[in-house]
Amino acid sequence: MQPTLDHAFARDLPELTVPWQAEEAPEPRLLALNDALALDLGLDTDWLRSPAGVRFLIGNELPEGARPVAQAYAGHQFGGFSPQLGDGRALLLGELETPSGPVDLHLKGSGRTPFARGGDGRAVVGPMLREFLISEAMHALGVRTTRSLAVVATGRLVAREAPAPGAVLTRVASSHLRVGSFQFARATADTALLRRLADLAITRHYPVLTGSDRYLDLYRSVVATQADLVARWMGVGFVHGVMNTDNMTISGETIDYGPCAFLDGYHPSAVFSSIDHQGRYAFGNQPAIAQWNLARFAEALLPLLASDEESAIAVATEALQEFAPLHRAAWGRVLAAKLGLADPGTALEVGEGLLDLMAEARADFTLTFSNLIEAARGNPEPVRALMLDLPRIDGWLARWRDLMPDVDTMAAANPAQVPRNHLTDHALRAAEAGDLTDFEAILAAVRSPWTPADPRFAEPPPASFAESFQTFCGT
Ligand code: AMP
Ligand code: MG
Repeated sequence: MQPTLDHAFARDLPELTVPWQAEEAPEPRLLALNDALALDLGLDTDWLRSPAGVRFLIGNELPEGARPVAQAYAGHQFGGFSPQLGDGRALLLGELETPSGPVDLHLKGSGRTPFARGGDGRAVVGPMLREFLISEAMHALGVRTTRSLAVVATGRLVAREAPAPGAVLTRVASSHLRVGSFQFARATADTALLRRLADLAITRHYPVLTGSDRYLDLYRSVVATQADLVARWMGVGFVHGVMNTDNMTISGETIDYGPCAFLDGYHPSAVFSSIDHQGRYAFGNQPAIAQWNLARFAEALLPLLASDEESAIAVATEALQEFAPLHRAAWGRVLAAKLGLADPGTALEVGEGLLDLMAEARADFTLTFSNLIEAARGNPEPVRALMLDLPRIDGWLARWRDLMPDVDTMAAANPAQVPRNHLTDHALRAAEAGDLTDFEAILAAVRSPWTPADPRFAEPPPASFAESFQTFCGT
């Protein structure tokens, strides 16, 4: 049965939308459906698999009265401000009511919109399945994220380096409000619009904020949720790759799985994106960039924070200063769990000692920590085998063992498998050629990250792959 969609965003913030329709797909074919998510959303999976359901999933057959829109937003991309980005190849279909509140149903790859600039408005099978896989992995790893409901092949060939099969991703998010949405509203100089946007953000994400300082409280809440989110990314070796302000949500969900990757060999300067020449979005730079983005968020919110700009800057600056200690505390908790230690402060010190040794040896991130579970059980050899400086790792292991690490805590915090770049790449190539077998096998493995699956999912890539692997934006 067709679900009912609400259109609160389009109704309440028409200034931030352009009513628009998804492009017709010549021959839609369902490639991936997230049954568990569909059930959580109260959607009928048999119907979603039917021709009408598949057409619904790509916005080609919507309920009566549906009002799909392209959302406007601005954003700092690699530090430079673009006053008008917006959904160039995406649409908000509407909101779906769920037991835990409304969620956005959103399309990526649904055709050109007025925000498309030079782009073709399309997306292709490999990158959309990649977003499906990685967002599922992140969810299973306990990292807040937008979700993927479906990937539908359109039956159209899309011009890329080589022509590639087109696809649409159906995305679910608690909202698509971004720092860039606020930057767009601020740039209109319409403070009433900015206030309506902030009110919507509070209603949807922070409904407990009702006091007279609620806009400052909104800001502080986003600072806190992002400080925590980035620590969790780093705990699973995740590099987002394109932390532009239009890709930072107000909800605290990870969004926009374009050039992201998981670390193989650890180094804080690890970068995968083909266009990130300066390492702006390198693994270890992510907290600093989150803080930079949050400063831009504060600038956008200033008119709501106090009656004069000087006081607004003062309260915003004070609130932003909470980011570093909050992030450090969150990173301490992440490391404490990974090392099986009770005290985050100790874990920070001990953990950073280990990370130094890992960086020196470019030790595989996921494998080092899963081998450390072995070490806690009495066998340090698999960890030692990944390191270069054996006297130092032996000293480190002795100190850590003295702290009595808890094996169960570690087993619940250190994944046996993440979506390995080389395996994912290989599987997506096969999927583009029509064979989903490997994609489905990896998906099943990363949905149960704590339980070792096929050992090949835990193995690092061949050195030749690791040296040359790159990711791309806007695919
Ligand atoms: P992203 O790097 O995915 O965050 O996208 C940045 C901006 O580029 C957004 O405004 C997107 O809508 C737009 N964009 C990316 N790829 C395309 C495309 N193929 N066609 C139109 N717009 C695009
Ligand atoms: Mg984006």
